[in-house]
Order: sequence, then structure tokens, then C-alpha cells
Amino acid sequence: MTYSNQKGSGALVRENIESVEERIRSACRRAGRDRSEVSLICVTKTKPEEMLREAYEAGQRDFGENKVQEICRKKPNLPDDIRWHMIGHLQRNKVRQLIGRAVMIHSVDSLRLAETISEEALKAGIVIPVLIEVNMADEESKFGVSPNEAPTLVKDASALSGIKIEGLMTIAPYTEDPESNRPYFAGLRELAVDIGQKCIDNVSMSVLSMGMTGDFEVAIEEGATHIRVGTGIFGERIYS
Ligand SMILES: *Cc1c(COP(=O)(O)O)cnc(C)c1O
Repeated sequence: MTYSNQKGSGALVRENIESVEERIRSACRRAGRDRSEVSLICVTKTKPEEMLREAYEAGQRDFGENKVQEICRKKPNLPDDIRWHMIGHLQRNKVRQLIGRAVMIHSVDSLRLAETISEEALKAGIVIPVLIEVNMADEESKFGVSPNEAPTLVKDASALSGIKIEGLMTIAPYTEDPESNRPYFAGLRELAVDIGQKCIDNVSMSVLSMGMTGDFEVAIEEGATHIRVGTGIFGERIYS
């Protein structure tokens, strides 16, 4: 599949959102799930504010970025009711700037990072929802803990009062064949069920952030509650 961003018109973003919506609805239908169980996060990294505004005007409110600087830069210029999700690797020295700006951090992959987020959240007088990032396919290029390490990290981080662990996140391998990612999505769901059964205080396993442009339908069939779609809405990203 190819996605054009050459037109750069609001109509294109709107059309893309409509076709993503249609794909979400049919995946939900196949899986016997209600559309309301799946949140679409529009991944806006590298995209100009104009395109974010187009998505906003098409009704979207959940936006995902992978750099703290980019959230800080874009947020003041866009409507206040946008919910910003931090989905990328997070350095501890960037955490302070993120607090109060992001509604959820999807990429917690160490106890030290969780501690820093908690400390900064407490200083700001808030509790921030977080997800534990799991590297399901054991890819060297990816962040995240291994499925084996995840329960221990959840348990240890559950003691931190500035965060609330709400579930798990994974970035599946890039592939032309979405079916090949099904075991990773099913595995993340099973891991969340296992951890949920431990009934750890301050932990819920209600969020499964998984699925991107190439594989979100399979992720929805396997229980995703949050899908993160960039290319399918805004076209290919150009990194300069
Ligand atoms: C860029 C990114 C996405 C979106 O990927 P697309 O293939 O463009 O939909 C989703 N999740 C994370 C963590 C990303 O960094």
C-alpha cells in the first residue's frame, strides 16, 4: 500500500481518517468488539501543525508523538483539548518537560525511568498513567523489556505513587504481512492477563497499545485498546 501526502490538502487527511475508521470498524466487527473499545491515536511525528489541525477538524483528539521537544513545540499552537500521548523512547532528562503535557506515557521500559516519571509527577501534584513497553519479538533495534522481565518491572514500579500503570505497549516488527505479527499481539494480551491476575495494587492491565498502519486490524482482532496510526493518516514521513 502507498500513501500520498503530495496533495497536502485537508481533504486528504480527512479521507485517510475515514478509510482508517472503516478498517477499524470492520476489524471490530470481525472480532465481535464494539468500536468504542478501540482508541485511535493519530501519530503526528514529523508532521506540520497544519496537518494536525486537519485531523483535529476531522474530529480526532488523541495525538501521538515520539519526541518531547516536538510535543512542547506543537502543543501551544493547537487546541487545548488534544490528548498528547508520548509513544517514543524517553530519556530521563526530558521527563520534567513532559509532565502536564502528556496524558499517557506508552514507553516505560526501566525502573529508573518509572522512578523519574513518578518523582516529577509528584512534584507537579499529579499522577500520570503509563504503559510498560514490551519488546515482544526480541528485536535488537527496539526498546522495551522482554516478556519475561515485564512482570517484575510492573511489580517494582507499582510502588511508585506518581504513576499509575494501566497496561502494556508493543511495537511489532515492520512487515509486509500483518498476519506474521499476530503472535506478538496475542502474546502481549496474554502477558497482560497473566500480570492482571496477580492483582497488584495500583496496577490495572486495561490498556493494550498495539498496532500501527500496517497491522492495526490484526492488533484489534487480538485485543488492542489503543492503536497508533501515522502513515495511514498523514502519508509517508520524510526525515531530513
Ligand atoms: C511512528 C510510530 C507509529 C506509527 O507508525 P505508522 O506505521 O506510520 O502508522 C506507531 N507507534 C510508534 C511507537 C511510532 O514511533
